[in-house]
Amino acid sequence: MAQVEALGLEMPARLGLVENEPLAAHTTFEVGGPARYFLHCGAAGQSEELLQWARRAEIPVLVLGGGSNVLISDRGFDGLVVLMSGGSIELASCGEQVRVRVDAGVEWDALVERVVHEGLGGLECLSGIPGRVGAAPIQNIGAYGQEVAETIDGVQVVERATGQKRRISANQCGFGYRSSHFKGKWRDRFVVTGVEFLLSRAAMGRVTYPDLRRHLGLTPDGPAPGPLAVRDGVLAVRRAKSMVIDAGDPNRRSAGSFFTNPFVTIETAAAIRRQSDRQLPAYPAADGSVKLSAAWLIEEAGFTRGYELGRAGLSSRHTLALINRGGATAQDLLSLAAKIRRQVREMFGVTLTPEPVFVGFDQPVEALMDQD
Ligand SMILES: Cc1cc2nc3c(=O)[nH]c(=O)nc-3n(C[C@H](O)[C@H](O)[C@H](O)COP(=O)(O)OP(=O)(O)OC[C@H]3O[C@@H](n4cnc5c(N)ncnc54)[C@H](O)[C@@H]3O)c2cc1C
Repeated sequence: MAQVEALGLEMPARLGLVENEPLAAHTTFEVGGPARYFLHCGAAGQSEELLQWARRAEIPVLVLGGGSNVLISDRGFDGLVVLMSGGSIELASCGEQVRVRVDAGVEWDALVERVVHEGLGGLECLSGIPGRVGAAPIQNIGAYGQEVAETIDGVQVVERATGQKRRISANQCGFGYRSSHFKGKWRDRFVVTGVEFLLSRAAMGRVTYPDLRRHLGLTPDGPAPGPLAVRDGVLAVRRAKSMVIDAGDPNRRSAGSFFTNPFVTIETAAAIRRQSDRQLPAYPAADGSVKLSAAWLIEEAGFTRGYELGRAGLSSRHTLALINRGGATAQDLLSLAAKIRRQVREMFGVTLTPEPVFVGFDQPVEALMDQD
């Protein structure tokens, strides 16, 4: 990395660059060592300027939103961390639909709240998810039967290597279950600067999830609820699982679900079913595989809600949420994750995949997760 001072570039000082900023203060796990350089990036156009500077100074860049889907190493990040925050939401009629263009730094739930109050449908089940809009396409966020790939029309990006601005249409993003090209083959290639959604004016709230339907008291023949009612229901169900961040909640230091639900063959699902007296939740997928519940596998492998391993643990209200119980390090969380994954694999032959993005580690995720 070139010495920033030696380059004599004034721009970072002008923008308020700080050195050795502890990243634990910017992640929901409250874990992560220092960033060599750190900057809040609010204004439109600022991110392009920054990327250009980092490119010239040969400094690696990590873009962060709310830090709610990352596990950052205790060593931190030896480069520039750009935290995107703020921006605007613009609505424009588009036939039967409304085109909603949002800056990457806008709080995700502020967007959902705004569109739901405008009577627009399509994002209501995604109420209460922490983080910023720019991260929504990265893992195609989803909850309660809805995912953002259904309503994203395009993603505005800056290509890091060239500084070129582009609009990537939704069908090029490679959206899948908790995945996209941004998280896969395009990792670190683009900075998302804005997202465009097409939302429906006429849509009634969509509710397919049984516990949400129960909570809302919906019957098969009854009227469909509006987006606002669905939002209220989703927030209530999420709060009961500590899936809305609340400063007074001892389960709050998490990244939500730590593992994704695994897809297995029909034969594997049948074999697992024979191993337990408890009913196995299993959902057929379009490609012929079967989606299993990671939470069910973890519980059957002997980990109950509230399980503790030193300063790390499982949420007392959600089996899939690994938590920092207070003062945990990234290594503490890794040790717990590795233990859970090993036990599930030994018992069922299924290898769980972590959902958060790992940052600043010197080994690949697979090696980190296979530690003893
Ligand atoms: C309590 C809790 C509940 C959760 N519930 C859900 C849920 O129901 N469904 C779900 O899908 N997720 C859930 N999550 C995970 C998380 O909130 C989402 O993935 C969210 O979209 C992450 O946003 P963020 O801004 O915090 O991203 P960050 O954690 O800051 O970043 C995540 C990744 O995206 C990259 N990134 C962020 N912004 C940009 C950008 N502008 N351009 C390029 N790359 C970028 C980062 O480099 C990193 O790789 C939950 C998390 C918590 C803590």
